[in-house]
Amino acid sequence: MTLQQTIAEYLKYTGHKGFDISAALVDCDGVLYDSMKYHTQAWVKLMKKNGIKCTRDEFYELEGMTGSEIIKMKFKTGAGKNVTDDEAHALYGVKTRYFRELGEAPIMPGAMRVLETLKEAGVDRVLVTGSQQDALIERIKNDFPDMFGDVMVTGHDVRKGKPNPEPYLKAMNKAEKKSNQCLVIENAPLGVQAAHAAGCFTIGVTTGPIPEKDLYKAGADIVYKNMDELAAALPSLLVALSLIKA
Ligand code: CA
Repeated sequence: MTLQQTIAEYLKYTGHKGFDISAALVDCDGVLYDSMKYHTQAWVKLMKKNGIKCTRDEFYELEGMTGSEIIKMKFKTGAGKNVTDDEAHALYGVKTRYFRELGEAPIMPGAMRVLETLKEAGVDRVLVTGSQQDALIERIKNDFPDMFGDVMVTGHDVRKGKPNPEPYLKAMNKAEKKSNQCLVIENAPLGVQAAHAAGCFTIGVTTGPIPEKDLYKAGADIVYKNMDELAAALPSLLVALSLIKA
């Protein structure tokens, strides 16, 4: 599909007349940080310690759900156990400890270039993460100085994880933007589903093992191989979108 066809498809299914892109809603794990390999490893360790069979690939598929949601689902299906909110909270604490023990996840190559390109184009950057770790938010501010403002959505703000559109709807609401004013950058199928359901033009990046076709199937408008490829394509994408005025 050409870029023009992609844009026409988006306008058709959303009913928007055009775009006025002024914000990018940016996911964190698998977009800003190459952290999913550590998360999946920590999840598998938690499950195995609790006698629940699983593979790392499953956790790439579940990325975007809240920690509690993942724990409740896996303990139910894998061990027939109903986990309470308190138990889920405690188990999530253990998973977070395993994750930290693996060391600091590297910054995703190309992430800074994507953010700089957005900034140069006058597009606000709004962080949208399911994480509730204050240390992570601080790290983002240090690693990407002046790239994110105070408007952000974290795990503290949302009740329902992806694929529910709540995180992106909250971000749009906080940033006072409509869906045709926002791009979303996502790496996970459930995250793409959430962004698509929120009506935003959704950019997928295949930074992990999940293939391009799965992100398209989840509703991505366009998919790039990685953040470097997105950074290179972004100026012409922004121009193409700006030509079709709302
Ligand atoms: Ca992600």
